[in-house]
Amino acid sequence: MDSARRVRVTREVLGRCRELGFALAGVCRAEPSRWADELRAWLADERHGDMGYLVDGLDKRLDVGRVLEEVVPGGPPARSVVMVADQYARRAGDDERAMPGAGRIARYARGRDYHRTIKRRLHRLADRLRVEHPGTDFRTFVDTAPVLERELAVRAGLGWQARNTMVIHPRRGSWILLGGFVTNLDLEPPPEQEAWGDHCGSCTRCIDACPTGAITPYRVDATRCVSYLTIERRGAIDEGLFEGVGDWVYGCDVCQEVCPHNSPRADGDDGVPSAYAPRQATLDLLAVLGWGEAERRSAFAVSAMKRARVDMMKRNALIALGNQLQSAPDAAALARIIAIAADPAEPRLVRETARAVRRRLAGG
Ligand code: SF4
Ligand code: SF4
Repeated sequence: MDSARRVRVTREVLGRCRELGFALAGVCRAEPSRWADELRAWLADERHGDMGYLVDGLDKRLDVGRVLEEVVPGGPPARSVVMVADQYARRAGDDERAMPGAGRIARYARGRDYHRTIKRRLHRLADRLRVEHPGTDFRTFVDTAPVLERELAVRAGLGWQARNTMVIHPRRGSWILLGGFVTNLDLEPPPEQEAWGDHCGSCTRCIDACPTGAITPYRVDATRCVSYLTIERRGAIDEGLFEGVGDWVYGCDVCQEVCPHNSPRADGDDGVPSAYAPRQATLDLLAVLGWGEAERRSAFAVSAMKRARVDMMKRNALIALGNQLQSAPDAAALARIIAIAADPAEPRLVRETARAVRRRLAGG
């Protein structure tokens, strides 16, 4: 394919992405990562916590072209990556703190499961392209393949990677969810595709606001990040970080809430698909403490809250409840924490977290 034809096909593909309702879409070549040194240094510092899968699949993660090999062993090499984004929340300053007894859920997990919402449309597009361009192969991903989605998004013109490490688009902000596909279809970024420089300027709001001090410019220490701790961390959370968890029970949005690029503005694009309309923004903490597997499954059924197990959710609920009791004592809630701490039927993680929360409340 010559360059003019590649650009024409690319424009068609990107036009279809817009027809499918994606807020942003762009293309980049399927080239090895340019962030390999940074990622290796971050992993060497052991700032990735329990996310050992980042180390295990590192070589593949650093070379997006290899992702297609898994779908078509011995097939033609991957040439291009199409990246898309859905906006899942409006630009609107800070969130309300949760009502007493409730824990907040990060915005991305409040609506329907974005994995399904995005993948369904990517599959539809890939199926059509496969017919129109015989011999082409595709592998779609939405957090589901070992690829550096944020780097690919930046290379495809969806934004810049900011000091809080999120991808920010100057008009859309950072409330965006990424997905895409790798393909051997030969695409070429059209000249009108934007490339964004760093728009963080001298701002340090996210660094100053992070409740656990997890951010250094362009790097997040996952072992201190509330989002990681509440969703990915399998074991106990360090007591020194309890206060920073605040009233978050699943995820944390603070470094995005304070970002000026997410505040309302006249020229900002703000369309949010109905699939992302919040279904639940908070969870009742005492109810979570009574969960079994069936209740967890039912609460998570169509949401993106998949990764946390029951004992992790109870751990999170205990910490959030303990934080609330610091300023608003509640004898019944305290009695529940004490009972859980002594209940041999509770998983060890839950009992030990209850004991730690109890200790903090007793000032010890
Ligand atoms: S998600 Fe929360 S804890 Fe994690 S870096 Fe952002 S502000 Fe800090
Ligand atoms: S808060 Fe400021 S420094 Fe942080 S990501 Fe937003 S613009 Fe960049």
